[in-house]
Parts: sequence; C-alpha cells; structure tokens
Amino acid sequence: MNPVAILGIMIVAASAEDWRVPPIALPKTLKHPVIAATPEELSRLRAALKAAGPAHDAVAGVVRQADAALANPIAFPPRGGQHNQWYQCDKCQLALKTLDDTHHECPRCKTVYSGEPYDDVVYEHQHYANIRNASNAAWAYALTGEKRYADFAAKVLLGYAERYLQYPYHSASRSPSPWTIISGGRLFEQTLNEAASLASDIAPACDLIWDALSDADRAAIRDGLLIPMLKNMDKHKAGKGNWQTWHNAGMIAGGAVLGDLAWVEKAIAQPHNGFVEQMKVSVSDEGMWYENSWGYHFYTLHAMTSSPSTPAAWALTCGATPRFARCTPCPSTTRCPTAHCPAGATTCTPRPAAPAGSWSTRTRPPRTLISCPSSRSPPPGNP
Ligand SMILES: [Zn+2]
Repeated sequence: MNPVAILGIMIVAASAEDWRVPPIALPKTLKHPVIAATPEELSRLRAALKAAGPAHDAVAGVVRQADAALANPIAFPPRGGQHNQWYQCDKCQLALKTLDDTHHECPRCKTVYSGEPYDDVVYEHQHYANIRNASNAAWAYALTGEKRYADFAAKVLLGYAERYLQYPYHSASRSPSPWTIISGGRLFEQTLNEAASLASDIAPACDLIWDALSDADRAAIRDGLLIPMLKNMDKHKAGKGNWQTWHNAGMIAGGAVLGDLAWVEKAIAQPHNGFVEQMKVSVSDEGMWYENSWGYHFYTLHAMTSSPSTPAAWALTCGATPRFARCTPCPSTTRCPTAHCPAGATTCTPRPAAPAGSWSTRTRPPRTLISCPSSRSPPPGNP
C-alpha cells in the first residue's frame, strides 16, 4: 500500500483526537545507520570518545565492553532461550543453582535437574550476552571505524541468521494451546522478548555495521534473521497491551533497517494493533499507561522511544499524539508530597531511562547521553 493511502487511513484513525500523523517515509536512498543514530549524534559520540570527562568515560566504557567480548570465543547455544519461571525446584519452589549449562541443583533438597526447560533458561542468558556483545561491538565500530569490531558483530549476527529458523519453535507455556502457538518464538520463548531484542539490540547492531557487510552477508542476515523475526512477531496480533507495543517497536526498527516501509506503516497504522490505536486505548487522559504500574509505564515508553532516529518514529516520539506527549511528564505530575510516585498495580518505583552521562545500549546511548538534537524541528501538524 502506498504511503499516501496509509496516511489517509491514519488521519481517519486519529480523528477522535483531532490529531494527524505526518507523512511516513523512509529515505529514497537508505544511508546507514538509519535508526541507531543520526550523523550528528555519531559525531558527538566520537568527539566524546576523544575528549575527557564523564561523556568520554561513558562512551569508552562501551568500547571496553566490546574489547572484552572480542577477547573470548563466541558460543551459540543449541536451542533458543526459555523463561526463568521454569528455573525452580518442583518440590521446594526454590530457585535452582547453576552447576553448569546442563545441570541445575536445588539448594535445599539437592535434586539436580537437567535438559529442557532448565538448560534453556541458561541458554537464554547466553543468547542475551551474545546479542549484547554484538551490539557493543557494532557501536565500537561506529565510534572507532575499526573493522575488527564490525567483523565480530557480523559473526554473531550471521551465526543467528544461520540458526534462527533451525532453533525449535517454543513458548513460555508447555501446554498445547492457541496461546502457545501464537506467542512463542525460536531465539526466545515469547514474541515479546524477540521483539524487544530486535528493537533494542539486533536491528541497531545490523544498522551500525550494514555498510561493512558484503552483499551476501546482508542477504543472509535479512533472510535468515530479520525477516523471520518480523514475521514471527507479526503473527501475534496482541492488540491492547505492552506486547504489541514492543512488536511495533520491532517492526519499526527492523523495517527501517531493511528499508521496507510496509513494516513501519504496519507498526503505526495497523488497525487494532498499531501505535495510533494503542494511543487511543492504552493511555489515559493523564498520560499513564493503562496497566497502572510505573514499571509497565516506563517499559512501554521505552518501546515507543526505542528507535527515534527513524523519520517515522521521530514523528511519533518528539511531539507525537497529544496522549503520547503526556506519557513522559506523567510520573512527575502525579508524584506524592514525598516525591515518590504513588504505588501502582504491580510496582511502585518508577524506572526511568539511564541518567545523562551513562550509557547502556539497552537505553539508547545517543538519546540519554546527548539529549534530543536541537536541529530537529517538530513534525508539521502536531499540536
Ligand atoms: Zn528442592
């Protein structure tokens, strides 16, 4: 569907809020990085690396983490990861102690568990570590230009491109139910954490090293990892809720890196599931996420701001809908006299993004380190 048609749909969808989405487009000629950082942001980060002070320390810390990753061999688990809800003794209901990758001991009755799903919980941590290492190495390449970092990140991403469709499909539930069929994945046990990993680490890492890859390697990562992950999360139409928020973040990030506008449009405009619909049904008039938990509020806010360097996401995150614009100040405007946020449904402590000067690749370093670039103007048509 062409962008004009999509825009028409979105204008109708948003009419209840008297708000119009600006045109959604990707650059005609894709120049990477597309989502991870703008040229201005990368320039600031490179300058920080060469200077001294807190900004240097934060940026240099990522390069050090990349160096540590390069010093060790890459190990790919034989299967995808599993939820840590399974990592406990059946009798004592106590968390297991890891003896090694395939042996897990109850600290009370000393029963040793082995095999699926216990091993797979350990594998989950190993997958996250691999992907985080690839992300750190990709950032180190973008900062230093040293090809060895790009080569390492490529090795991890190509390794997962070889394995993703070979890993058994599974979910967090072990019962044969419709939920198991739609909610699972291959690298991880849920479309939720596959989408979060794609949005936060995998797509940005691909983006940062894309120009250093051969055509064959790009095709392998596209066909073996990015597109299968996108298709897997898209089969799960989660609707209202934080799962779909992360699915949308994954589709924006993955689609933008591939230069495939259809994924970005789907993330924003898909009926009953896209960003526009989520803003209508999931955010209160005061700007709080409907689950009434600060943990979920920041969790979903993180998803909605995970790829602000895409033109489409930029339109949504720095001005966006009136309801979305209320999400960020909401915690500060609802504080108690004690300065604490009121207790919510499942958590009572806000978990905001990392403070300025720190760098976690899971909280998008350019955004937290450099703040919103002044050169960007709010998109037209926003209040
Ligand atoms: Zn036990």
